[in-house]
Amino acid sequence: MDIQIIRAKTLKPKPDQNNLGFGRYFTDHMFLMDYDPENGWHDARIVPYGDLQLSPASAVLHYGAEIFEGMKAYRRPDGQIQLFRPMENFKRLNNSAERITLPEVDPDFVLKALKTLIDLERDWVPSLPGTSLYIRPFLIGTDPFLGLHTLQKALYCVILSPVGSYYKEGLNPVKIMIETEDVRAVRGGTGYAKCGGNYAASNRAGHKAELKGYSQVLWLDGVERKYIEEVGAMNVMFQIGDTIVTPKLTGSVLPGITRKSCVELLQKHGYKVEERLLSVDELKDAMKAGTLKEAWGTGTAAVVSPIGELSYDGEKYTVAGGKIGPLTQWLYDTLTGIQWGKTEDPYGWTEIV
Ligand SMILES: *Cc1c(COP(=O)(O)O)cnc(C)c1O
Repeated sequence: MDIQIIRAKTLKPKPDQNNLGFGRYFTDHMFLMDYDPENGWHDARIVPYGDLQLSPASAVLHYGAEIFEGMKAYRRPDGQIQLFRPMENFKRLNNSAERITLPEVDPDFVLKALKTLIDLERDWVPSLPGTSLYIRPFLIGTDPFLGLHTLQKALYCVILSPVGSYYKEGLNPVKIMIETEDVRAVRGGTGYAKCGGNYAASNRAGHKAELKGYSQVLWLDGVERKYIEEVGAMNVMFQIGDTIVTPKLTGSVLPGITRKSCVELLQKHGYKVEERLLSVDELKDAMKAGTLKEAWGTGTAAVVSPIGELSYDGEKYTVAGGKIGPLTQWLYDTLTGIQWGKTEDPYGWTEIV
């Protein structure tokens, strides 16, 4: 399939790289492609960034027919631009599509389309330390009927946003509240799919935690409210004794690419990693016994986010003295070194655009 390119007549001024924030600015162009059962995916095009036109009856607006991805393009010290494991994102996009019956995309084609778009927007990839070009592919059901039916028409879109460093003054440990009422996902549900609906289910707990002075919630499993699943919209890892424990992918946990990369990095460097069920009681015992050494979240936006305090049932536990631990710092430095091309990539994880 060819990609039609319609260039913007005027280009926007670039924002100040010191104050990018997250997802506030968008580049001059976006990628679009339509789907219907007769034509399959068609009309691949790069057009000026702007509003979408949708029927107010569109499935996405009523029944949550939406999935998305989150990835980044990084400016290397030599000025080139690179992606980090992009195929993993497109494979996950298709797994999410299958779960909520949206049409799957051709991973090779959407990667080619992404590279074409980034190439056109080269000047938008920032270069200050910690900054990057955030990439948001998303796929929505556009059938203009209210009747519940198998989804037929869809739109795939990619928008790009230059984003600032997640950390302004070094890695900042966060305070986390263990959520005992709301659940994010259940096995058999959509927890492993990256879909907007999961976020709708999470909003209330996140808001409650914020009001109490916490930055995120730690989610427990939806059936027994016993096993740890994720932290906010990140995967979570704990160093207990000399072992790194992370919840296994039971179907209600999102299979993060940062999670996978951290597990692989730790194993390659000789650490013992266990992907298994971890109960909140086991964690509580480890905190009381002092064997919980470090805890951190993992995700594309923050890369690695150290946890400095955990609150459960009204009790507060300090983790790693409320500071960033040496292993969390090592993971952050090692992973960001590869992502920004500051150190060699021995694993073939990066691709130059
Ligand atoms: C995207 C996401 C993650 C992290 O995935 P990465 O691929 O590492 O960015 C973790 N949990 C949830 C719920 C997510 O949506």
